[in-house]
Amino acid sequence: MKSISIIGAGPAGIEAATVLASQGITVHLFERTASPMKNVADKAFLFPNFAPATDIVEAMGKKLLNNNIVQHLDTDIVAIARQDGGWKLSDARGESHYTDIVIMATGYEPFDAHRKEELGYGIYSGVITSLEMEKMIRYQRVENSMGERPKRVVFLQCVGSRDEKSGNHYCSKVCCVTAVKQAIELKRQLPDVDAYIFYMDLRMWGQHFEELYRSSQQEYGVRFVRGRISEASGTFDGRVQIKAEDTLMGLPLKLTTDLLVLMVGMEASQGTRRLGSACGICGEYGFAQSVDPHLRDNFTAADGVFVCGACKRPMSINDVVNDGRSAALAVLECLGH
Ligand code: SF4
Repeated sequence: MKSISIIGAGPAGIEAATVLASQGITVHLFERTASPMKNVADKAFLFPNFAPATDIVEAMGKKLLNNNIVQHLDTDIVAIARQDGGWKLSDARGESHYTDIVIMATGYEPFDAHRKEELGYGIYSGVITSLEMEKMIRYQRVENSMGERPKRVVFLQCVGSRDEKSGNHYCSKVCCVTAVKQAIELKRQLPDVDAYIFYMDLRMWGQHFEELYRSSQQEYGVRFVRGRISEASGTFDGRVQIKAEDTLMGLPLKLTTDLLVLMVGMEASQGTRRLGSACGICGEYGFAQSVDPHLRDNFTAADGVFVCGACKRPMSINDVVNDGRSAALAVLECLGH
């Protein structure tokens, strides 16, 4: 029997492991952090139905209670190399793991907002990222930089995506709906807050996303401004002043807000870039490249290496789970199951 290793215990890696394990196949699941599902565990609720993120973390955790899944937590696979017709995986501790088949499920990294200096992240405490807002919502502690309830919150879309300057021309796919979801959660917790979303385009591509967008305006009074923020600066009282242009009205705008939330996009993770390069499947923007996005999206040009989830491109959690399952089926096909 061929040995199978999965790199990354996010939703894609866990789902792939579960499907293979259900067929009586032993899989080795490597995860660089101490616990699986790190990216999901930090979230509050999931769009479009506001299911608590803890529910999916718990459900996926139960799937791991399968004797055919051997977990290697805190094990960062830093190198991959061809050896004896299979693959040698090396971890950060210098230990080697030999395998015939590899499923890369190494996920994504959020765009580092420090790279957009003009938006003042890391300089003004009122400028935060969508990840930080998610945690504030989760723990019901949405506060401005003075530790007070904010009166106004501005969300800015497309930070580090669709952006010439940061070198990422692609759309990160989930940040539009995430901003709408966060604005609704914010209004549920703090109904008096003024919530604005500055957008270039609204990409509500999934089932019920459009309804979510409509309800954010009609039920919760979230205001949408088409335009980009060109600059953010701090005020003496810890707030943030933004300069923008309303591109529908053709007017320059100045607005002061308690919090400016940068909706950061997705980038290929360091692990994806490093391992993808080592086995020759590193594609555009550092994401892992499949053979064909339509019919063989889990197969790669490297023999015995399969890919799934957000290491290929930005994806939502449900897409990632489905893609993990799809990668497992690709492996079963390859094994002749
Ligand atoms: S999903 Fe929306 S916010 Fe995110 S990059 Fe695409 S258009 Fe911009």
